[in-house]
Order: sequence, then structure tokens, then C-alpha cells
Amino acid sequence: MTFGALRIEHTSPLQAGALCREAIDQFVAHPSVRLLAVVDGAGKPVGALSRTKIIVKAAGQFGRALYDKRPITEFLDPPRFVVTADQAVADIAGSLSGDEVTVAPDGYILVDADGAYVGIVDGLDVLRAILEQNTRLIAKLNEEVKIRASAEREARRLADTDTLTGLSNRRIFIEETEVAVARQEPSVLVYIDLDRFKFLNDKYGHVVGDDALRTTGERIRAWRPDVFVARLGGDEFGLLIPGATLDANFESELSRLHELLCEPFISKPGAVNVGASIGAAAFPADATSRVEWFHAADKAMQRAKLNQGGVRRFDATIDLAQAKHARLTDSMSSAVADSMIRPAFQPFVNVATGEIAGYEVLARWFGPDIGFTPGPNEFIPIVERLGLIDDMFWSVASQALDVFSVADPKLKIALNVSPIQFSNRMFPVRLAALASRSGVRFDQIEIEITETAMFRDMAHTVDVLRHLSSLGMSIALDDFGTGYSSLTLVKELPLTKLKIDKSFVQSASHSASSEKIVAAAIGLSKALNIQCCAEGIEDTRTLNHLRELECDLAQGYLLGRPSAHLVGQSRSAYHAAG
Ligand code: C2E
Ligand code: CA
Ligand code: CA
Repeated sequence: MTFGALRIEHTSPLQAGALCREAIDQFVAHPSVRLLAVVDGAGKPVGALSRTKIIVKAAGQFGRALYDKRPITEFLDPPRFVVTADQAVADIAGSLSGDEVTVAPDGYILVDADGAYVGIVDGLDVLRAILEQNTRLIAKLNEEVKIRASAEREARRLADTDTLTGLSNRRIFIEETEVAVARQEPSVLVYIDLDRFKFLNDKYGHVVGDDALRTTGERIRAWRPDVFVARLGGDEFGLLIPGATLDANFESELSRLHELLCEPFISKPGAVNVGASIGAAAFPADATSRVEWFHAADKAMQRAKLNQGGVRRFDATIDLAQAKHARLTDSMSSAVADSMIRPAFQPFVNVATGEIAGYEVLARWFGPDIGFTPGPNEFIPIVERLGLIDDMFWSVASQALDVFSVADPKLKIALNVSPIQFSNRMFPVRLAALASRSGVRFDQIEIEITETAMFRDMAHTVDVLRHLSSLGMSIALDDFGTGYSSLTLVKELPLTKLKIDKSFVQSASHSASSEKIVAAAIGLSKALNIQCCAEGIEDTRTLNHLRELECDLAQGYLLGRPSAHLVGQSRSAYHAAG
């Protein structure tokens, strides 16, 4: 907009030599005029006179008398705001900073191309014009911002949408779950992994695989339109169901979803179908954080997968145990290789005299920190499965024999041997070599085997045991009573000791059948002329009872706990009992 487009007041200008009377008369005659121009002989502005400056003075008492005759030059401002008709208002707006707007001039003197006076443009009109222009500009800017924001949203939505299924992607899914956690909103997270998807893809090609994914997305939506569904990647889908809890009702709903997903669909080769493994976990029941929640749903899904599909909900006892197991398996090899499985020694005691007769070597975990300390019942099955039991045995045995080499030579050292190890015929020779190197006599060494060991390969096992026996080593049958020992077996083997399992020993006081088994085992050992050792003695009553039954040896927390050293607290415990 130009100044020419604004309202122009064609008030006559004042001559430079004029008196104030003229100016005052003009202002009085034209109440809307707030500025008068003062021109020279050629009509060019030489100054300006503003209403505020002169009228205020003239309006006072005796004002006119005092001011009328004074020359206007006394009240003149320099001709600062002189503009032409084609000059843009915006240019002036640019020259006025925010603060100056409030002290903007009362008016602008408009001149023609030659610089001669034309009229006055009121300052307020100019301000109004500037404002109007800015308002239009702001509206336009707002419009522009809106267009760009919606374009951006659309671009983001496209980037966060899986083009194949039209579902959200993993990033958005994570965001949504984070919101649920932040709001502490009870919700259910469902993980779906298709079964046989890879097979389908490989066999029929990607077109069919794509159909399977699209169909799955559609079916999930049809199942419950109110859930938030995302494709998490590959053939994995995630569902977030706010306000849901994992009750029986919900589980049966998930089973219905599972049925839906397993139904055949039509694709290139005809009717094909995929299966699905569905895992569900509830917040906050099953998890306290977003990461834990994902982990829980994933665990449940994996359990469903192990079960050839179907629906599983997170189960802390099972899923955490699995996670523990996985952690343990991961660090098992290094623990064995680096000799981080170390021996503990638990004494066994002569029941009649209370003297320590020897120590049983029990494996203990000193491996990497995996959040818990696994006991041998947890790690030995894994060691066996990983084929590391032989390595572990030799590592633990050599450490144990080193410690034991300084013990009283009357004492025995009992080593637990896993059934698997007997497949190696060299076992006796190797053990003999180790004993010699550590300075432990062969007749100090006792081998503890469980009955399960025998059944693997009876003939072979008997061979190995005879060999050990011929070297002077003792053989103890461990956990007696828990397996299927036949009398023949017991008679065939070169046994020197029966160890009665602690489950019988500990329940003998309140179970008649256990009591009979303990008595019978002791009787059997006497008949075979071998020793008998009762395991798991935790109280004096049990110990006293065993003494009455004339059991030879006893082992248990009462007499000494497994320890890294060869400690002999057993005597005092025994006498306290006696
Ligand atoms: P086991 O050979 O029957 O060992 C006796 C288990 O009973 C040990 O458990 C011992 O700590 C525990 N125990 C001893 N006294 C008491 C008691 O008074 N009360 C109770 N409740 N328990 C008692 P641990 O050390 O946990 O070993 C468990 C099993 O792991 C062993 O049973 C054995 O079968 C196996 N094991 C331990 N170390 C080795 C090893 O170096 N090699 C092999 N192959 N197996 C081992
Ligand atoms: Ca044992
Ligand atoms: Ca045992």
C-alpha cells in the first residue's frame, strides 16, 4: 500500500514567516487535522507544526493573547516525515521499530514529484494501514504454517506406516506403550509372531508372504477395531489394548484371535495358511517399565512358539526362570574354561565316634555375575548338556585334590562323577595320574555315582568301576532310594558305600515308610558288608536316631556345611548332639 492510497487532508500549508495565530485558527477550523506543514516560497516543506504542541498552549488562560503574535518558527519541528504518493507504507513501517510506533508522528507531509506540498496524511491512518497489512500478513503466515504442519504430519505418518499392511511401525508402537506406562494406564501388550512364515515365503514367493502379512493385519483389526496395531518388523505384530486386563475373559478373546489368524486365506497358489504364536503381558501386573513389558510379552510369545503356537500369557515363574537359564547357559563355557567352578568341602562324620571321616567335594559357582548364584543342581545339567562335564570335573577335582593334599592322610575325599563321564575308558587312569600329582593316595579317593549312571551302559560302567576299585579307590552309590536300584545291581557293583538320600533321612521322623527305607538301607549295607552314610542331617534328633540304627556315617548341615576350606566343626556339633 502506498501513501497515495490513504486519505489525504488538503489543508493549506503555513508560510515560514507566519504567526501562531494562523496556525491556531487552522487547527480550530479543522478539528481532525493534527499536523500542519510549513513551506517556503517554492511550496516545499521546511517544517511541521503539530496540534499537540501549540493548541495545548493556546488553550490555557490568556493563551491566545500570549501566543497569537509569536512566530511559528519557535514551535517548528524539522520536516522529518515527508513522503510521496507512490511511497510504500510498509517502508515507513520498517523504519519504525516497535517502540517508535507509540511515538509515531501525528502526520506525514505528502509532496509531489517536485517536492512541493500536496497535503497531510494522518499518522493514525498510517498506523492503521500498517496494522491492517500486518494482520493480513499474520493470517497468511498462519495459513502457511498450517499447510506445512499438515504436510509434515502426513510425511511422518507415511514414514511411520508400514506400506504393506498400512499399520504403524515399531517406533510408533514403542511411543504408544511409553505413553501408557507414563500414564500408569492398565493395558495389555500382545506380541504376535507368525509360524511357518519363512516356509511360506520360501516355498511360494514373496507375493504370498506379503498376502499373509496383509491378511494378518486385516484380521487383527477385524478382531478388535479398538486396539492399536503395529507391524514390529518381519512377521511380528504388536497390539496395545488400553484399559484391558489379562483375565480369563481376555485370554479366551485372544484364543479367538488365534483361531482367526490360523484360518486359510486365498493367495496365488490357492488356499494357504500360517499359524501364529501369541504372547501377552499386562501392565502394571507383569512389568514396571516399558522395556520389562516388551520383554515379558516377548517371553510369553516365545513360550507359545515352543508349544507350536497358541496363546500364552506372561508367567513370572516360568519366564523369569527361562531368562535365568539363558543367562546361565551363556556364561557357562567361560566359567568352566576359566576354572570359575570351584570345590566346596562338606565333611562326613563317623556316627559312633563323631570324628570326621572325610569330605565330599561339591561344585560351586564363582563365575561371572549373572544376577544370582546358581547351585550345582542348576548348572550341572547345563554343563552336561553343553558337553563340558568332563572339563568341569577335572578342573574341580584338581583344585580339590590340591587343597586336600595337606589334610590328615586318614581322611577320604569323595568326588561326584556324572554318569556321562564313564563313557571315557581313560577315566580311572587319568584320575590316578591326577591323584599322584597332588600327592593323594588312591585309597583316599571315593567316587560317588548315582543309580542313573548304571543304567546308561551297565557293562561298560561296571568295567570302569572295577578298574577304579582295583586301583584301591572306593565307590559310593549316591542318592540311594531315589532310583530303581535292584538288589542285583547293588550286588554286582564293587560298592563300598550306600548314601541314603536326604529326602528319606529327613522325613524318617514323621513318615513310617521313610523310616522303614532308612532302616532297610542300613540293613542292606550291613548284609553287603559295606558302609552306610545318611545325608541331610539337620537336627540332633535325626542324628540320635541314626546312631540307634547303627548307621556308620552321617553328613549334613548339623555336622558341617560345605565350605571352601577343610573345616572340622563337626566334632563340637556331634558332642552337642551326643
Ligand atoms: P549330592 O551329591 O546328593 O550332594 C549333597 C547335596 O546336599 C549338596 O547340595 C549339599 O550341599 C546338600 N546338603 C548337605 N547337607 C545338607 C543338609 O543338611 N540339608 C540339606 N537340605 N542339604 C544338604 P549341592 O551342593 O547343592 O549339590 C547338589 C547336587 O549337585 C549334588 O547332590 C550332586 O548331585 C550335584 N553335584 C554337586 N557337585 C557336583 C560335582 O562336582 N559333580 C557332579 N557330577 N555333580 C555335583
Ligand atoms: Ca554326592
Ligand atoms: Ca546324595
